Amino acid sequence: MAESAWLEGTLGDLEGDALTAPLLEWKKALPEALREVCNRIATAKGGVWLVGGSVREAMLGNPWKDLDLTTTLNPDEILDLFPRAIPTGAQFGTVTVRTADSEIQFEVTTLRSEGTYGDGRRPDEVTFGDSLNEDLSRRDFTINAMAIDLARNIIHDPYGGVEDLENQCLKAVGSAEERLGEDGLRLLRAYRFMDQGERGVWEPNSELSNALLSCGNMLENVSEERVWSEFYRILCGKNAAAILERMRKDGALSRILPGWDAEIDLQYLLQVPEKDGFACRLVLLASEIPSERWRRMEHDLRALKLSNKEREIVMDLHHLLGHLPAEGPEFRRYRSSVGDLIEAHLAIEDVLHPIEAGVAREELAKLAPLKAGNEPLVDGHLLSSKSDLPAGRRLGRLKEWLFCIQIEQDLANSDEVIALLDLLDWKNTDPESWPDSNWP
Ligand code: ATP
Ligand code: MG
Repeated sequence: MAESAWLEGTLGDLEGDALTAPLLEWKKALPEALREVCNRIATAKGGVWLVGGSVREAMLGNPWKDLDLTTTLNPDEILDLFPRAIPTGAQFGTVTVRTADSEIQFEVTTLRSEGTYGDGRRPDEVTFGDSLNEDLSRRDFTINAMAIDLARNIIHDPYGGVEDLENQCLKAVGSAEERLGEDGLRLLRAYRFMDQGERGVWEPNSELSNALLSCGNMLENVSEERVWSEFYRILCGKNAAAILERMRKDGALSRILPGWDAEIDLQYLLQVPEKDGFACRLVLLASEIPSERWRRMEHDLRALKLSNKEREIVMDLHHLLGHLPAEGPEFRRYRSSVGDLIEAHLAIEDVLHPIEAGVAREELAKLAPLKAGNEPLVDGHLLSSKSDLPAGRRLGRLKEWLFCIQIEQDLANSDEVIALLDLLDWKNTDPESWPDSNWP
């Protein structure tokens, strides 16, 4: 990218420092579409700065993921400038912008100087301003309160974010107690930013640590969707064990999911596979909740607004806790019923019941695929004609019983299944007492 091609927008009201050589290098990898967006704003006499996560990641030498901009233009002016723009959060000044020939989206937010936080969720009113200084002052942490003027190659860092990045220290902008008291989501963001992936766990300074305790009740004011989206990211983090340990100690965990704070060594949480990892970790946290309390658990997960799919995975895995197959035919039924969740379940049992889990793994590895696959060989019609049972509960249960045996004994064809009718006492017993193919 030729440097001269970035047009200078309005100058901000903050002093800045020249971009260092690594940052200039980082800038070269920014997409052409970003320059187009910035230049169009500059041409309309607006000021424009790169802010938020991308600046933080740039300082850490990481490639950009999402690019957030802040501008002196108001949302209507941005919408006029970009025909493909969508007002995604216009009341908070945010417009999602795309250029004509790129699918990359940029969140462009008008400089804010917002008012009070009456409900601790969202500011009561957002006032648009023209002060970069004021906008950065309302951001959560110093490492998130930096801005880059890409045309002038200047970084604005009024709160010492660069230094805190170097010291691997998490600090609120201004008074930690005040900032967490305004918006409870910042507590969760604090826990999330403590987990710096490969770079380890970053400690909050003592002021922020204290505020995490004294403002704990603020979590109750945050909308469930926002809690879950942050908490999900915490659960998936590389250092989730340390972060959740701290949340457990601080009492934050039990505020989000009461009772989901088992007294296990959370280091074990790091053992779970990536697939469904969030669910494995949640289930380990819930491993002391007895299965009879499943209604309460499901209620907790519904309240937290997990998707149906996410909720089902967690509930299914919890239902499987402690239920490992131990003898011959059970292994086939377990495999066929648990299906895609086997890896996740065994990973959980590796923690809770390592010996039994080891045995199950060995036996499952030896098991050949089912000769007839995972579908019933005998359907209702055939079974009705062979048993003289009419359609109804009895016939349905008999079909399930036969399917259970088909799986456990690995039967190969419908004759073998029908032959069972002569061996089972299905005429004189209660159909509700018959087994089915579900595990456990
Ligand atoms: P990532 O995109 O990796 O989640 P991010 O820091 O970009 O990290 P965003 O949610 O995209 O997080 O927010 C962008 C910026 O907006 C943040 O860097 C921060 O400056 C500010 N911000 C976001 N949420 C809050 C909040 N609840 N309170 C104050 N400032 C916030
Ligand atoms: Mg971001």
